[in-house]
Amino acid sequence: MAPRTKIVATIGPASQSSEVLESLMLAGMDVARIGLAHGTVEEHVDRIARIRAAAAATGRTVGILADLPGPKVRAGAFADGGVFLLEGERLALAPGGEGARSDERRIEIDVPTILSDLHPGDPVILGDGGVRLLVDEVHESAVWVTVESGGRLQGRPGVTLPAGRNGPRAPTAHDLELLQAMVDVDIDMVAVSFVTSASDITAVRDAAGPDGPMLVAKIETAEAVADLDNIIAEADAVMVARGDLGVRLAAEDVPHHQKRIIKRSVAYGRPVITATQMLESMTTSPSPTRAEVSDVANAVFDGTSAVMLSGETAIGHDPVNVVRTMARITERAEVEADWVSWGRDLGRLQTASSAGVPVPVRVTAAISAAAWRAVQDVDASAIICATRSGATARAIARFRPHVPIFAVSPLERTARQLSLSWGVTPLASAEYTSTDEIVWYAVESAVQQGLVKSGDVVAVLAGSPEDPEPVTDSLRLVRVR
Ligand code: PGA
Ligand code: MN
Repeated sequence: MAPRTKIVATIGPASQSSEVLESLMLAGMDVARIGLAHGTVEEHVDRIARIRAAAAATGRTVGILADLPGPKVRAGAFADGGVFLLEGERLALAPGGEGARSDERRIEIDVPTILSDLHPGDPVILGDGGVRLLVDEVHESAVWVTVESGGRLQGRPGVTLPAGRNGPRAPTAHDLELLQAMVDVDIDMVAVSFVTSASDITAVRDAAGPDGPMLVAKIETAEAVADLDNIIAEADAVMVARGDLGVRLAAEDVPHHQKRIIKRSVAYGRPVITATQMLESMTTSPSPTRAEVSDVANAVFDGTSAVMLSGETAIGHDPVNVVRTMARITERAEVEADWVSWGRDLGRLQTASSAGVPVPVRVTAAISAAAWRAVQDVDASAIICATRSGATARAIARFRPHVPIFAVSPLERTARQLSLSWGVTPLASAEYTSTDEIVWYAVESAVQQGLVKSGDVVAVLAGSPEDPEPVTDSLRLVRVR
């Protein structure tokens, strides 16, 4: 059986050549992520073209996830080699603009308005969380701080203030410009950084226009954790963005948020990505640490749909080896995972409370729950679902069925979006006009590809294309002849 947990790999200087991209796909990369924070739109578009060409060359269905930078506040650049701040030292935070600079006495901030929101006693965190400052005095021209925990600062470290005081909200005007460029190239998925409420996702969806990309809500702020269910309900997919989450909340809280975010996302039928530092040491080392191997396996046990690689594949010394290693760990973990109890514990409906859930969503949820039951009762060997939008495949993937899920779609973009869904193998199909035709075609294409064989029973989920608003409303148990 194909691996069930999907792998998202970030593409950067170490992985953007056609050769490496093809090897990454053959090694098990399902989704290619491009960070839009660095580089020009032309460079992003060029990368996307190269990823698409590599997918065509290898015959793989690979989704592309473009990650919007969001309102990240940064310190002005430190000189080469950076500086080392010691506990107890005092320094100034000052407004900076284009070309902001920093040194050990004075750190310039590129969004100066946030300085006036600070109060004595507030913590200010620089970089990935190692350096923590405490505000002493707030003046018109500068904010004086004392180093509470020291460390090295280099480049342009991120600046994190207490919740609610981090400047502009997502999406920023720059996010929306980048979004438009991504919509223009028909991108599959867009990740929204530093979401604080469901309305941030709505704003991106409105800006993307009808038939826009799938939207991935990155959970990386205290506000998002507090408003989790509403954000999950509004988004199409979710990311446990452990990097920034560990800066904005206590690092020791992150594993527990991870479990809860995954549970709630799956309850809503949303694919969920576990991200950041999963195989961090492999950026420079040929093998992972024991702790990293355990982290990846535990994310699989938590029920994550996908695991993500960041710097490991973007700037690491051997991206293909990293993806291969990740695939080995997830495949091994999948042998141990208890999917049957998972489906049983999930309950039948799409969400814990079905009040307010639209009827078509409830019909799809009910029919996919019936399919999950039927697969056990008749010992079916696969689930085949005919899906235009991908919703049916995501509804059944939620149950983590122990048999393969083949999603047959006439829309290529749907197939690419399903590359993020747990356990789903997307297959392309022709357009169909009746339920009978869909069921026949879906089973036939699975047989032809050697995915099911004569004598097998398969569960087929399909809709009625005659319906003006097609919804998956039928389940057939087909004996393959
Ligand atoms: P980033 O998001 O890599 O874009 O910061 C992921 C995270 O914060 O974990
Ligand atoms: Mn982040």
